[in-house]
Amino acid sequence: MPRYAYINGSYTAHNKACIHIEDRGFQFADGVYEVIACIHGCLADERGHLDRLQRSLSELGMDMPVSRQTLQLIFRELLRKNRLKNANIYIQVTRGIARRDFPFPDHETTPLSLIVTTWPFRFDGNPRVKDGARVITVPDQRWARRDIKTIALLPQVLAKQHAVEAGAYEAWMLDKNGYITEGSSSNAWIVSQDNKLITREPSHDILRGVTRTAIDKLRQEMGIEWEERPFTPEEAYRAQEAFTTAAVALVVPVIAIDDHKIGTGKPGPVALGLYKEYRAYVDGLRGEQLKWKA
Ligand code: PMP
Repeated sequence: MPRYAYINGSYTAHNKACIHIEDRGFQFADGVYEVIACIHGCLADERGHLDRLQRSLSELGMDMPVSRQTLQLIFRELLRKNRLKNANIYIQVTRGIARRDFPFPDHETTPLSLIVTTWPFRFDGNPRVKDGARVITVPDQRWARRDIKTIALLPQVLAKQHAVEAGAYEAWMLDKNGYITEGSSSNAWIVSQDNKLITREPSHDILRGVTRTAIDKLRQEMGIEWEERPFTPEEAYRAQEAFTTAAVALVVPVIAIDDHKIGTGKPGPVALGLYKEYRAYVDGLRGEQLKWKA
């Protein structure tokens, strides 16, 4: 079956979908992105991801390339064409194609580039959730506006590569004071000795995860207390549990950090409970979804 991608107004065979060599995303990483999970045909936190896309664009002086509703239709049409109900959707917007020059091109004459791709992802029975994942810590080498979801991801690519070479799933990054900021592509959480959820407060230092926001709502319903504050690897080593959150894999329990076993060394009840509640919450969003058939 051919696989399709959406690129600047058309649905194209995925292996033929190309972007111009002078696209500013390619030359300057001048663009932003989002990833949205589609679980059993239901788009998880679509509104939150569209809100963050709009915010990232506006922080960089760009508009939405098409209306929100058009984007929502593109997601569904692409999922339909690719016959996917369990998938991740990738959306990228760049400042368009222009002669290579640092200042912004004239936005009246240079349309933004929009691409959307999808790939299958099996959320049910994800072994990462069942077995838990290992994490290492590495220095955070990113720029000062980590709240903007830009496609300039080289520091995260290097961090993740370190993790892979160390046999780990994720790298938790450390700021210059030795506190964990977040994972290379996820937010970082621990469950403290006194049963509180701890995660870093939103600021320019981290990306405010859409999954993080949903988990905050769910933990309130579950009566779990939390503290938004930085924490060190040493505090994390002593935690009862640890986990990461991100749209691509939702909640992933962490069973070891830098070779320190966390808790019992198995996925803990808080992480697994939040995962279950998140899945139920996404099922509950079904009523809000635009109608479509895969
Ligand atoms: N932090 C970073 C650096 C990320 O790349 C991601 C994943 N996009 C997250 C946090 C989690 O965000 P979300 O829950 O919106 O996927």
